[in-house]
Amino acid sequence: TTTTLQGRVAVVTGASSGIGEATAERLAALGAKVAVLARRKDELEALAERITAAGGTVLTLPTDVTSREEMAAAAEAVQRQFGTVDLVFANAGVQLISEIDALRVDDWQTQIDLNIKGVMNTIEVFVHSLEAAAAAGGPADLITTSSIAATRVLPKFSVYSATKAYVSHLTRLLRTELGAKGVRVATVEPGMVDTELPDHVTDPDASRLMADLLRDVDCLQPADVAETVAFVASVPTHVNLTEITVLPTAQA
Ligand code: NDP
Repeated sequence: TTTTLQGRVAVVTGASSGIGEATAERLAALGAKVAVLARRKDELEALAERITAAGGTVLTLPTDVTSREEMAAAAEAVQRQFGTVDLVFANAGVQLISEIDALRVDDWQTQIDLNIKGVMNTIEVFVHSLEAAAAAGGPADLITTSSIAATRVLPKFSVYSATKAYVSHLTRLLRTELGAKGVRVATVEPGMVDTELPDHVTDPDASRLMADLLRDVDCLQPADVAETVAFVASVPTHVNLTEITVLPTAQA
């Protein structure tokens, strides 16, 4: 039987824009109670207004996922408001590409802190909830956002790609422990999605590269990835779609 998202308790990180925002909206439209996390409070509140206006249930939790303390507080707030979390979409991430010898060390650190440590902080505060939800007989999903960059070998992408390779391989490893406990573990590996992601690049050469890459392709929209995440969480509980690549049709 297909599981329904009705009544599920979901947490989405990086929900103030792009893929996370669209996914929060989609999960709420399908009946999940959704806690939305990111740093920008105004964007989260605008999203919450749209979700509420559409009849959904949402909790805004302005949170920096790189802070273990803030994540612990957010987890407590969700548990208090909505009960046991059974769907975690660890999606917050940043792509600050550059050539390695440009020594943009701060950018390396930011990507490692968010794309790796932020995911681990999210897992730290929710893994026991997911296990409890599964032990109670319901569906439980840990879904991350990796990237096709996890496996592609492209100049300027080294640190970003390595953080995403970490996320993709983590999925394979966590399944060996959590699968047996009834928790599904999945990662979505999108190609180019039309979001704010390229806007944060600090290196001018890398910005030009991104603009060139984006120019000729009809990119995915955030809603396309949101639909994939919703599908992963909706298949029967004995089915675990684990690594899902979603590409724009025209992207090589
Ligand atoms: P956006 O830049 O639109 O979204 C990134 C989100 O992460 C924002 O909501 C941002 O919110 C949040 N975020 C950034 N830093 C933090 C932080 N310290 N704490 C909490 N939240 C944070 O880009 P996308 O939607 O594209 O990115 C989402 C994920 O998709 C990322 O992991 C990215 O690597 C991945 N991805 C994107 C692709 C693309 O082509 N767009 C392709 C493949 C993967 P705020 O600034 O308010 O904190």
